[in-house]
Amino acid sequence: MGRSTYPQLEINLKKLESNVREILARCGSQGVEVAGVIKGFNGILECAEVFASAGCNFIASSRLEQLEAVKDAGFDIPLMLIRVPMLTEAAEAVRLADISLNSEKEVLRALNEEAEKQGKVHEVMLMVDLGDLREGFWEKEELLDAALMCENELKGIALSGIGTNLGCYGSVSATVEKMEELISCAEMIEAKIGRELRYISGGATTSLIRIVDGDMPARINHLRVGEGIILGRDLQELWGYDMSYLHTDVFTLKAEVIEVRDKPSHPVGEIMFDAFGNRPVYEDRGIRRKALLGVGKLDYAFPDKIYPRDKGIEVLGASSDHTILDIEEAEKDIKIGDVLEFDVCYASLIYATSSANVKIVMTSD
Ligand SMILES: *Cc1c(COP(=O)(O)O)cnc(C)c1O
Repeated sequence: MGRSTYPQLEINLKKLESNVREILARCGSQGVEVAGVIKGFNGILECAEVFASAGCNFIASSRLEQLEAVKDAGFDIPLMLIRVPMLTEAAEAVRLADISLNSEKEVLRALNEEAEKQGKVHEVMLMVDLGDLREGFWEKEELLDAALMCENELKGIALSGIGTNLGCYGSVSATVEKMEELISCAEMIEAKIGRELRYISGGATTSLIRIVDGDMPARINHLRVGEGIILGRDLQELWGYDMSYLHTDVFTLKAEVIEVRDKPSHPVGEIMFDAFGNRPVYEDRGIRRKALLGVGKLDYAFPDKIYPRDKGIEVLGASSDHTILDIEEAEKDIKIGDVLEFDVCYASLIYATSSANVKIVMTSD
């Protein structure tokens, strides 16, 4: 069959569900709806289903392919496109998404045309760039102008709100001040259109800090959360928040040991370039016990972004299909055929869930 049992990515749906409920409860108690973002696990349907059944208000992705799979599966939940649509995907965006994030008038006109063609009204949130320098209107007048165009000219478009994104490119923090700036943008639009906007979407996982601190300004009533639900690592490890009610081990990368041998820690011979054209520096720690795994960068991309569950194991590096471990100080006796387990983070998870070589296995223990 040409199909190996390992590497595997084991997904614990029960732990995932628990995480979804914990975050939804905390957001809900502060009047905040949650779009569950599925792009971090490549839209795997079983996980998306947990998002929907546990009560997320939307399923969201930046990728239309993932929204299409959810739509085809017939979930009864609104779908949100969270990457501003390409002009070339306007028709599919309208067909698949109930609502999309937008930052260009030209795209809004294209969505409008498509919506009219398909006999639909497509909802939009306009994105405001508050300094993180990824998507969004920069000039407030331009934002207002686009809002007025949606409200007054585009019959196929319904303006349901505005949103922002922080901490993705520019590492800007979702402070109370930034949230208030977003609210004032919404109020500027509301004053001109003479009605309240349905949604003010305060950001992604990085904006959860306002929920955890309990100081999210009242008018922020929507967040789009991926990492903070599926892994829950960033707020604990990068920001020092106590998120102990979240399972950080929903996902387990499992790989099989294919060689165990004592070898030098410094390469022997003239040092040129590694498999990826880099010239790393190798520390000489003498002869060490090493293990080789049948998994590599093709499956998780970043050797420093997978974390052995067993104590005393160090990931030394990897090539496309091999991972090299130092097991000299491993507490466990490691042998050929053993299967070792690793935690993943967002960066490694997006690859592990997208690699054709990683077998996805669901559990609910
Ligand atoms: C990816 C993304 C999110 C979710 O980000 P997380 O950090 O995983 O919560 C939210 N909004 C937009 C626009 C995104 O692109």
